[in-house]
Amino acid sequence: MRQLYDVLIIGGGVVGSAIAREMSRYSLKIGVLEKNMDVCNETSGRNSGVIHGGFAYDTGTLKARLCVEGNRNMEQLAAELDFKFIRCGKVLVGNTQEDLETLKRTVEQGEANGVRGLKIIDKARLHELAPAVVGEFAMFSLTAASWIPLITRLHWLRTPIRTERTISWAMRLRPLTGTVTAITVSPLPRGGSTAAG
Ligand SMILES: Cc1cc2nc3c(=O)[nH]c(=O)nc-3n(C[C@H](O)[C@H](O)[C@H](O)COP(=O)(O)OP(=O)(O)OC[C@H]3O[C@@H](n4cnc5c(N)ncnc54)[C@H](O)[C@@H]3O)c2cc1C
Repeated sequence: MRQLYDVLIIGGGVVGSAIAREMSRYSLKIGVLEKNMDVCNETSGRNSGVIHGGFAYDTGTLKARLCVEGNRNMEQLAAELDFKFIRCGKVLVGNTQEDLETLKRTVEQGEANGVRGLKIIDKARLHELAPAVVGEFAMFSLTAASWIPLITRLHWLRTPIRTERTISWAMRLRPLTGTVTAITVSPLPRGGSTAAG
């Protein structure tokens, strides 16, 4: 059956799901084409679960800016999507003078990226924070956090669908299961929607 959409997103990982969620705020008919039976069933649902602080990315890059911004927005996102995460912080451990220089440069880069709460800590403080970790010193990142991707993934696409039903957002969003094998370009029908057949 031929169906028409204003926006058709291929892939329901965290990126496709986040785009769908954002676009669901507009009055559009949106489709998410996902080859699995559920969203975030591949890398996005099985990664290490670190919410990065943003210190590791080159200053001025989009990745650095979005990582810092995304980290700051986590509390709001977690409240909206009803999932849990822990602001447990993160340590990068070092032992040598060379390690120390690298960690100091990492602190500088992180601060230039707008990351708050970065500092070098000594062995005693490292032991206090992470008793199982062995090292002479560390860089501590206060804003780094942790979540469980496999559980959290369930909230991504379902929440806007639930929201549509409960508070009547102007959204028509449908998850469609199927593998995209080819894309063909054909003249748009009147109204200019994207076709999924
Ligand atoms: C081992 C590992 C650990 C990581 N740890 C972290 C971490 O701790 N913190 C962090 O922030 N990031 C981490 N990442 C990176 C992060 O997981 C990815 O950047 C992110 O999941 C990418 O999301 P995505 O939506 O772009 O891709 P994906 O999650 O891969 O989603 C793509 C989706 O498209 C679907 N798809 C693909 N082809 C088709 C097709 N032809 N037709 C229909 N559907 C299709 C797939 O089924 C999938 O659901 C890690 C990555 C790896 C590999």
